[in-house]
Amino acid sequence: MTGTYPSTDTGVASRLLAVDIGGTKVALRAMAAGVAVHERTLRWPADGDAASHSDLLEASVADAVAALGGAPVRIGVAAAPNVDADGYVVSWPNRPDWVGRSLRAPFAGSGAEVLFGDDATLAGLAEARATGSRDLVHLGIGTGVGGGLVSGGRLLTGAWGTAGELGHLVVDPQGPRCRCGTRGCLQAVVSAEALAAHAGATRGLPTTTAELVAGVERTEPWAEHTLDHAAERIARALRVLVELVQPARVTIGGGIGAALAPLPGRVARRLAETARPGRPLPEVGPAVHGPHSSLAGAALLAARGPSLLGGADLFHERSAT
Ligand SMILES: [Zn+2]
Repeated sequence: MTGTYPSTDTGVASRLLAVDIGGTKVALRAMAAGVAVHERTLRWPADGDAASHSDLLEASVADAVAALGGAPVRIGVAAAPNVDADGYVVSWPNRPDWVGRSLRAPFAGSGAEVLFGDDATLAGLAEARATGSRDLVHLGIGTGVGGGLVSGGRLLTGAWGTAGELGHLVVDPQGPRCRCGTRGCLQAVVSAEALAAHAGATRGLPTTTAELVAGVERTEPWAEHTLDHAAERIARALRVLVELVQPARVTIGGGIGAALAPLPGRVARRLAETARPGRPLPEVGPAVHGPHSSLAGAALLAARGPSLLGGADLFHERSAT
């Protein structure tokens, strides 16, 4: 964790804990009176099973609570897996052995109210808050691809509270098959794994995401080709969103999304190619919170409570429960 990203303006003077549970790591931030007093990142070990990893998470939560000097009022959890109302993991493609396991259990000893939210959705709320934008689309590109839609200063929830799954917008019907079974979802085309595979095929050499990022920094032709491919496919998805929800701003984050510095500019250029007369396009930029948008969103959830995910006004200052 670094101090180079904006702190989350929680507006609440109490003990809170924010946790971002991803496919490869977990980030924890404990806050007292709006100030971060403890920040840790836990990488899931390569060995062990869900039970031992759950114990590890529980120990990390206990450390954060100890650093706070007392039980947090509330814990906001940004979760990569789909979690049901009781906190059980319904699906987690990257860590299938967690399915059916309680994600709430590692927090049980904290004595706090624990709230779960989709990691990309919470990232979108944090980005909207940080940029002061009432109409924002956030795209998180990492192990998976997720999104958050803020419209009129409120999270766009949909009928079942899970709207904004931008990773499953179809951008290439003839493209690679997505984990969901459909062909050409954005996630199947521009996830970290998909981008590394595209770069590898272009280059004729197995390529990691780190090599792709380095190749983009050196403006290697093969890396430029993959970058432009990603930008064009992302612009296809945004074209639909521009017509549907008219965002004023688009932020691109997530692990690899934040690492590919030229990506937002390239997406903006591709999007501009299809502008319609008299229809303004959104500003496309990097996530203000860099790769930490989901953690910032978890902090916001801890501060604001469940009404945040129910569509409460993001810019209304009062803490809600
Ligand atoms: Zn899909």
